[in-house]
Amino acid sequence: MAVVHKMVVGIYGTNSYLLLWKKAKKAVVIDPGGKMDDTIKKIQDADAKLEYIILTHGHFDHIMGLKDLKDKLGGRVLIHRDDKDMLTDNGKNLSNALGMPLPKVEADDIIDEGTLKIADDRLRIIHTPGHTPGSICIVLRDIIFSGDTLFRMSIGRTDLPGGNYPRLIKSIREKLFVLDGDFDVYPGHGECTSLSVEKARNPFLT
Ligand SMILES: [Zn+2]
Ligand SMILES: [Zn+2]
Repeated sequence: MAVVHKMVVGIYGTNSYLLLWKKAKKAVVIDPGGKMDDTIKKIQDADAKLEYIILTHGHFDHIMGLKDLKDKLGGRVLIHRDDKDMLTDNGKNLSNALGMPLPKVEADDIIDEGTLKIADDRLRIIHTPGHTPGSICIVLRDIIFSGDTLFRMSIGRTDLPGGNYPRLIKSIREKLFVLDGDFDVYPGHGECTSLSVEKARNPFLT
């Protein structure tokens, strides 16, 4: 069973998550959004193989450490079809606008919706467009990694290129709130929360 480490990285305090299967010696990184030294060390200390680098979407603050991580540990880069171009277009991933253009990294695989098997777990990919067209959430057991789709008491911004407010609300209501049971929500920024708390009290969704 995977152990989940939350690492806060980069200039926008992005939550990057390391999923580590110690016995199977496998790892997955979600959103390498800044300096990945601590993550890399944890993977190396566990003698684990980095299987996948999964991007919840293509904004620069979620991919800033991608090249470094990929160069050092490999791992297949997965992103949704509708955000794929953001990996190689610094206009689209907004790094140009910040004057910090990123080195380009191509996606290895496109993910739509579906399931990835890893060690004794499954990662379920759910397409939740709205913050960006190709935003995804990732479900591991009773945890949802929600990227910039859903935050504690807030939602992702929709004023950036490709953002769409009605679509975001629809994604959360029709793709996340309908999931059976309760889930911890591990967002792309800020504190963790739970799906039941957000259903009951998130001011954008009540
Ligand atoms: Zn974003
Ligand atoms: Zn972000």
